Amino acid sequence: MLQQTQVATVVDYFNNFIIRFPTLTELANADEGEVLANWAGLGYYSRARNLHKTAKIIFSEYQGIVPNSYSELIALPGIGESTAGAILSLAYNQSSPILDGNVKRVLSRYHRVVGHYNDSKFLKELWRLAKYHTPSKQNAKYTQAIMDLGATICVPQKPHCSECPVSRNCKANLYKDQASFPQKNTKTTRPEKSLAFLAYHNDKGEVYLVKRPDKGVWGGLWSFAECEDNEAAIATAIKKHNLKANIVSSLPKFKHSFTHYHLWIRPIIISSPGLEKNYHNIKKLALGVPAPVKKIISMLDSLNSTESNE
Ligand code: SF4
Repeated sequence: MLQQTQVATVVDYFNNFIIRFPTLTELANADEGEVLANWAGLGYYSRARNLHKTAKIIFSEYQGIVPNSYSELIALPGIGESTAGAILSLAYNQSSPILDGNVKRVLSRYHRVVGHYNDSKFLKELWRLAKYHTPSKQNAKYTQAIMDLGATICVPQKPHCSECPVSRNCKANLYKDQASFPQKNTKTTRPEKSLAFLAYHNDKGEVYLVKRPDKGVWGGLWSFAECEDNEAAIATAIKKHNLKANIVSSLPKFKHSFTHYHLWIRPIIISSPGLEKNYHNIKKLALGVPAPVKKIISMLDSLNSTESNE
């Protein structure tokens, strides 16, 4: 959960996830839809699918015990070099290096390694240093310590060097140029795309949702039907869905940002009487839906409440 996501965002999701799936067995035996529903809102859904696949593999091929060798761990879905290192170190106390975002920042400052995160030479050098520093004893403590150092002291903006236990030998502290490490990647502007989300709803308080393909954006989650954001495309899509469907309102568009682009979403609220297939009750929705879909559903819910109060 913490890959690409900060602790403050993750805490509630983690606690709810662990309540629902307290053991590997329960996760392995769960339906993928339910796993995604418990991940919905966190983004990067391939992490949830990989976690689920890995739980199933460990359950069926390793008698439910997480393997303790690098070669077996790295072969599991969603486990890369650093995660394998973290499992070996933290769970099995083996001498195994890690290089997550916090450790990268600490090492690049401590040694004044020039480069940015997309630079392969820079990463190669950081891995070399990570291996160099990894102790042969008490490895779990070391790994936790360097991660915590990056998370709490050697923070991205204004590191707390006066409180840092390794400040005496830190080169960036010596040269007082901590802010230069790691280098900032030259910012590229993300392209923008626009889509209309067709929120068909019937008079039973249900919305029409479709399951997205496993691969691609929001893979495996449930979303509204969508089309290009222009009148002709919207009119064609509506009539194709249901001849009796009618636009109730077109809400102001809002922006949802992905790593590689910004998506402008226009919610089109449509009454669609008479159809029931793939319609789901808003109040009892147990499906995994991405954050923008959740937002539109709550807009729809408040519109329905306003109408029923009038
Ligand atoms: S002295 Fe400052 S820059 Fe160096 S590792 Fe510690 S917190 Fe980071």
